[in-house]
Amino acid sequence: MAIVGSVSFVCDHCGKKHSLGASELEFQVAAVTDDQQGEHIHYVFEYESNCDACGKRIDIEFEVWEGPVGTINHTDFTLSGAREVNENFKVDHPK
Ligand SMILES: [Zn+2]
Repeated sequence: MAIVGSVSFVCDHCGKKHSLGASELEFQVAAVTDDQQGEHIHYVFEYESNCDACGKRIDIEFEVWEGPVGTINHTDFTLSGAREVNENFKVDHPK
């Protein structure tokens, strides 16, 4: 399983819009837990970059919780240097 999709956000300093496509998302599995409903997976992706318009640092930590398997039940993010996050994540099923 992997998290795919896209996300966009706006530089907090200059207002430039940035977007990340599937190839730029690098979610890592942070934790896996089991309960009666099955396996739950917590993914984290720490994005760090400098705005290519104004050079200001942008740090965003994206978190996705999958569970039951194949379903995203919660997402969250922590912003530094960015705002107006618009995320569209989904679980990629191996064929
Ligand atoms: Zn900027």
